[in-house]
Amino acid sequence: MSIRGGQAIELGRSGVGGPTIVETKGVSVALTDEVAEPEPTEAEDGATAPDTIIALEELSVFYGDFRAVRDVGFDIGQHEITALIGPSGCGKSTVLRCINRMNDLIDIARVEGSVTYHGVDLYGPQVDPVEVRRRIGMVFQKPNPFPKSIYDNVAYGPKIAGRKAGLDEVVEESLVKAALWDEVKDRLKDSALGLSGGQQQRLCIARALASNPDVLLMDEPCSALDPIATGRIEELLLGLKSEYSVVIVTHNMQQAARISDRTAFFTAEPDPSSDRRTGLLVEFDETGTIFATPSDERTEHYVTGRYG
Ligand code: ADP
Repeated sequence: MSIRGGQAIELGRSGVGGPTIVETKGVSVALTDEVAEPEPTEAEDGATAPDTIIALEELSVFYGDFRAVRDVGFDIGQHEITALIGPSGCGKSTVLRCINRMNDLIDIARVEGSVTYHGVDLYGPQVDPVEVRRRIGMVFQKPNPFPKSIYDNVAYGPKIAGRKAGLDEVVEESLVKAALWDEVKDRLKDSALGLSGGQQQRLCIARALASNPDVLLMDEPCSALDPIATGRIEELLLGLKSEYSVVIVTHNMQQAARISDRTAFFTAEPDPSSDRRTGLLVEFDETGTIFATPSDERTEHYVTGRYG
């Protein structure tokens, strides 16, 4: 397996087997002992399709006895924005949280099926979920800066990871990438809580970027923001995708249509084995297709506003 140089990052648990190196955006990542080489994807016309960075297969998630989502499978393309859409309660956030093992933090949650990242099973016994969350960062619905200075919010991840040198550079670079630097460069020591909602959300994006992820998961990142702040985040995400892969849960279909490359449409239907509704993936395709010529009637009803 080739390694393109750059720093090596280990996601494996210390003392559990030897690491295997996976190449990712010029950085080599050590995950586990058992790594399958990801298959390069070829589109049918021979053009090379975007590389798959994360693949979900037969994913089901249970909260206690309740199966919240069932049999979900789709691929997330590198340097693409993938949107997850569908009515409330169909499992979008649940699926999103599987991608960086955030469901581990919910006691009653149990995940079946597989999520692979660069071909590595993220639920493998040797994978450290903390390192997974560093490589696959998350931004939440409500901006949640720490009650610390702007600088300390962005420096937090690198500091926790033990970094001491070059923090100023990391903070500046992350704030520049999050399109916030010019607005805050003269008040880095001020409290992050004094920023506007839109600025706070861009700060949370900068905080995620400071840990040098290559995937960003976003759970309705604009739902608490006004249209202008929303527009800035959308513009930012379109700029970030040349370097990162983004997965976004959104209730805003126009937003999905504006910024995403591919869209997964979920719905919830009665589960044959219980009296509750379980989330399932109806259709996954290029965003233009999902909105213009979906292949499933349920998708068409949803995107044309005839759901329910
Ligand atoms: P969406 O993001 O599409 O609105 P969610 O993933 O939040 O859907 O929820 C899917 C289903 O799982 C819902 O029935 C919800 O009530 C249930 N659920 C979500 N989180 C939890 C949890 N922490 N504990 C128990 N049930 C949950």
